[in-house]
Amino acid sequence: MEHQPSNFIRSIIKEDLETGKRDQVITRFPPEPNGYLHIGHAKSIVINFGLADDFNGKTNLRFDDTNPLKEDQEYVDSIKEDVQWLGYEWDELRYASDYFEEMYERAVLLIKKGKAYVDDLTPEEMREYRGTLTEPGKESPYRSRSVEENLDLFDRMRKGEFENGSKVLRAKIDMASPNLNLRDPALYRVSHATHHNTGDKWCIYPMYDYAHPLEDAIEGITHSLCTTEFEDHRPLYNWVVEECEMEHQPQQIEFGRLNITNTVMSKRKLKQLVDESYVDGWDDPRLPTVSGLRRKGYTPEAIRAFVQEAGVSKGSGVVDEAMLEHFVREDLKMKAPRTMGVLKPLKVVITNYPEGETEWLDAEINPENPEMGMRQIPFSREIYIEQEDFMENPPKKYFRLFPGNEVRLKHAYFIKCEEVIKNEEGEVVEIRCTYDPETKSGSGFTGRKVKGTLHWVDATHALPAEFRLYEPLIRDEDQKAEEAEDKTFLDYVNKNSLEVVQGFIEPNMKDVQSHDKFQFFRHGYFNVDPKHTTAEKAVFNRTVSLKSSFKL
Ligand code: ATP
Ligand code: MG
Repeated sequence: MEHQPSNFIRSIIKEDLETGKRDQVITRFPPEPNGYLHIGHAKSIVINFGLADDFNGKTNLRFDDTNPLKEDQEYVDSIKEDVQWLGYEWDELRYASDYFEEMYERAVLLIKKGKAYVDDLTPEEMREYRGTLTEPGKESPYRSRSVEENLDLFDRMRKGEFENGSKVLRAKIDMASPNLNLRDPALYRVSHATHHNTGDKWCIYPMYDYAHPLEDAIEGITHSLCTTEFEDHRPLYNWVVEECEMEHQPQQIEFGRLNITNTVMSKRKLKQLVDESYVDGWDDPRLPTVSGLRRKGYTPEAIRAFVQEAGVSKGSGVVDEAMLEHFVREDLKMKAPRTMGVLKPLKVVITNYPEGETEWLDAEINPENPEMGMRQIPFSREIYIEQEDFMENPPKKYFRLFPGNEVRLKHAYFIKCEEVIKNEEGEVVEIRCTYDPETKSGSGFTGRKVKGTLHWVDATHALPAEFRLYEPLIRDEDQKAEEAEDKTFLDYVNKNSLEVVQGFIEPNMKDVQSHDKFQFFRHGYFNVDPKHTTAEKAVFNRTVSLKSSFKL
């Protein structure tokens, strides 16, 4: 695996090892299994696994499964698959729910120390009592309950005697703290819900701010890396570790979230797009999910390189999606075989080519990587070209096919347009051309030059194929008006984000497998779709086009 470039977290870890503050590095990647992973999570994965790896440390995959209403085994399975696909192996697989008993006992300890109490305020009242950034909060009338009463009530909360939302266990810290997170935060809530791991064993569940530091401490995590929205929670994180008398003290360090232009990056929004059928599942190639990018044709190498380049810093700038595309082009350049496919076919008959004859032309599989060898392409009297490569009345500087013009067919011959055939509606349905046998590709012909080079496939041997072309699902420019007008991001979903076309591919592609990747001449990189491809017809997702103005 690539080394992590230097960054501020790396420097902290290095110093901790040098000064003897730590004698090893243990990190964790702690997703909540309430959705599929997106490329923002990939950043967290690369940082957590990558940094630990650089220092011969360990990384746990830990499911932060403390909210049963939103969590599901499907998400657990997909997260495991995505982490492995990205190229990482966890040291241990853990579930926060495995620690529920210990968390409960630590909460009892807090009560006994007078550091936690059961509160009966309603959620609305609690919000009111909390105060604001400029005004201190008010203490709950239940704050002065005796230790005995609190122990009894907390025990009965666990036994299921109370309704959802009727009681919470709160930390007793400081209702006047300038940090709102320290104004007696909730530690446990009542929720009569079946948990994907613990079933109906529990009807009280720990809150994130209480559970997370304990999970880290129990697992001996040295550096607990999270995103900057938790910076203000750090004092509470440390309070929990200390007051719960945990032996091991993890250190929380925050880094900036990854955001990318022209997409949404939160599980809540992604789930809405999936649930309301704006897309075809969590792995729809238009989503920035790891599984969506995989289906679109992204490689783990490209994603890792992108995340490294986006960098680890405190700031959370928005990264141009063109940068993500740049990295997949870079990665596929050497790996992807070149081929030709016609997406929107127009038939061309070469009138001076003998009927019933086929010749097999030699072509490199990847001119940038000659080791990949050669392929054979059939050529005969009838071929397909792209509809947009012909114009009856072309504008100036149109160098493709038009009446009387000569172009080069990639890997084959020069052809010249002699006649245009139309149907009754006046649409062009066929082009008649002549070819010049002298101009065969590779023959060293220098007699004359042509300006256009077209891709094509042989009509008699071609295989049918489907091509799926994508545009951004949500464009930033469309969304800018969002706040001014009373709309949500769903109102800005691009209705033209998927175009499906039926075309043809070279016959040597008859055995393509799911996730095989190709560069189609002039069209870009494509991935064989694992869901829709059948034995009769391959379906290709366009990963990225060839052109970009992006510069690193
Ligand atoms: P979302 O808001 O998209 O649901 P989350 O933070 O709630 O994300 P978790 O499952 O809690 O999702 O995240 C697991 C880890 O991934 C956390 O440590 C979180 O900080 C990190 N993470 C989530 N989104 C990003 C992002 N955009 N950039 C970097 N790290 C992220
Ligand atoms: Mg979350």
